[in-house]
Amino acid sequence: MKKRLLLHICCAPDGVYIPEKLSEEYEVICYFYNPNIYPFEEYEKRKKEMERVAKAKGYKLVVGEYDFENFTKNAEKLYYLPEKSKRCDFCLSLRLEDSARKAKELNCDIFATVLTVSPHKDFEKINEIGKKVAKKYGIEYLPSNFKKNDGFKKSVEEGKKLNLYRQDYCGCESSLVYRQMFKDAESEDRVFLVKGEKVGIYDIDSVKKHVERNGLKTAFIFCEKKPTDNVLEYAYENRIFLEPLENLQWRKRIFEKKGKEVNVLDLKDISNRDIFLDPC
Ligand code: SF4
Repeated sequence: MKKRLLLHICCAPDGVYIPEKLSEEYEVICYFYNPNIYPFEEYEKRKKEMERVAKAKGYKLVVGEYDFENFTKNAEKLYYLPEKSKRCDFCLSLRLEDSARKAKELNCDIFATVLTVSPHKDFEKINEIGKKVAKKYGIEYLPSNFKKNDGFKKSVEEGKKLNLYRQDYCGCESSLVYRQMFKDAESEDRVFLVKGEKVGIYDIDSVKKHVERNGLKTAFIFCEKKPTDNVLEYAYENRIFLEPLENLQWRKRIFEKKGKEVNVLDLKDISNRDIFLDPC
């Protein structure tokens, strides 16, 4: 007899191919549980697409609660952080923990998540969290790296056959804001990439003014020293990207490939901080 496996599903494109693959070995129950998705209309859209997949493929699907308040209560104060930060750790833990709980409730032997099919996600981190919550609930977790052996490519191909909606941001409000900032940068002919050693709040203000004077919407600041949390938060509020200095060259290449005029500027030429008191 096959083991019963509860498979956490984050979205239809990631959930289209893996249940079929796992059903060779397991009796699979798909579980759509994603209270991180913002706004609600987007949640409904992703959920309905997964329901369409389940119908087309004959998958068993259970839909969890849209517990958005519980997600925002904890994640909102971390919105200024970039992806793969502690906000994402919390988000992944919340979804995996509820999957472990649901697996127990449905008398499953084991649980897994399709999240590891994404090339943007750290599969080792996901597996680490999966094992931790499995221990807490006394259930087995199936560690995975579903993008291996062309797993991601196969998911994309299967998704195309069903003409699935493929979202262009991860899910939470913060990822939507960052996506919009990228779109703003991509919509312009010129991009400012500013490099500096250390960034403070005054520097963000100076870069923002520089951006506005030039009729642009955003800029990227690459800094050598890790910014403090209040600087990261201020940059997020002012829609300025803050990234580590090592990202500068690949970011530059990407914009050049897209045909943008890339201006690499030095922070000290924009921000005359010597004549001001730096508030941070
Ligand atoms: S970026 Fe994605 S994984 Fe991270 S908190 Fe937002 S929705 Fe969750």
